[in-house]
Amino acid sequence: MNVEKVLLARPRGFCAGVEMAIKSLTWMVRVFEPPVYCYHEIVHNKIIVDRFETLGVVFVNNISDVPVGAPVMLSAHGSAPELVETAREISGISINAVCPLVTKVHHEVKVRSKKGYSIIYVGHREHDEAIGTMAIAPESVTLIESEDELDNIPDDLEMVALINQTTLSLDDWEGIRESAQRKFNSVWMANRSDLCFATTNRQLAVREISRLADTVVVLGSANSSNTVALENTARRYGAERVFRINSSSELPQDIAGVVGITAGASAPEDLVQEVISTLNPRDGSEDINVTIEDEYFPPPPELRDLFRALSDAVALSLLAPCGVNSPLDDDRARSASDTLNFLTQRVSTI
Ligand code: SF4
Repeated sequence: MNVEKVLLARPRGFCAGVEMAIKSLTWMVRVFEPPVYCYHEIVHNKIIVDRFETLGVVFVNNISDVPVGAPVMLSAHGSAPELVETAREISGISINAVCPLVTKVHHEVKVRSKKGYSIIYVGHREHDEAIGTMAIAPESVTLIESEDELDNIPDDLEMVALINQTTLSLDDWEGIRESAQRKFNSVWMANRSDLCFATTNRQLAVREISRLADTVVVLGSANSSNTVALENTARRYGAERVFRINSSSELPQDIAGVVGITAGASAPEDLVQEVISTLNPRDGSEDINVTIEDEYFPPPPELRDLFRALSDAVALSLLAPCGVNSPLDDDRARSASDTLNFLTQRVSTI
């Protein structure tokens, strides 16, 4: 490889929702004997899922595969209401690690459906987030994936709500929004869209590096919607070569010139650092910063309750006051990468 310089998109990698979900599952692994079950991949990243499997987490796509009484976590992408209920019934401890921004979209679907809207939901048909959101009010929602599919919807609908998956490509979304607004008399939307801040910020940053770099490397998995959107954005905004890879071992050997790097919202930063070392740029690396992200989502309420109860039990056994400390009190100060790396290293040395 003959790499001149690396341009690092900022922000990149873990978002607040992924941080919350990974830390929550890590806490479950620390508290319970394996196996801990997780309904769907906790986040769509192969490396993260592999690491959790090493720690004794069993990922299932069918909630009935969770044995009665076993601890289970529901993924960050959000689950159908019936499924959340079933998990509560069969499991000893059920914790829902849904991202609050997905919950907000669920709420919009529920409210608009009750008000009698026909809801057009823009998303990826097979994606866990889309499946969970559609299940909120299946009788009111029609899913479309592209502008073309708008043609299949009658144009005389009176009350139309346009709602979308949080991780779409900004450019694709804008095209669909404009077409829908031309087609229908009036369209309800949540501000301009339901795209989350993390999706928007990462795509704005990758636009910048794509204009400046010869090659763009996107770290993340093929089933991650926001990662694929980054890949498509890089192509659209001028990068001659774009590679989506899971880890540095997948880097092509003939990369040269200026290389831009970004990472999907579920890809860990240590993989980015590995890629930089492998590329070994002659003139070092430079951050291309479009904004600072400081969003933080606290652990799910069920997990906070669980830790409060455990702390109280320990305090009681020591004749100490209850309700004082919980290990989650300084959750914000810990990063998901550090928490997971610590646990992974600990297990590998046992
Ligand atoms: S990408 Fe957006 S919606 Fe998805 S977990 Fe991150 S913040 Fe939440």
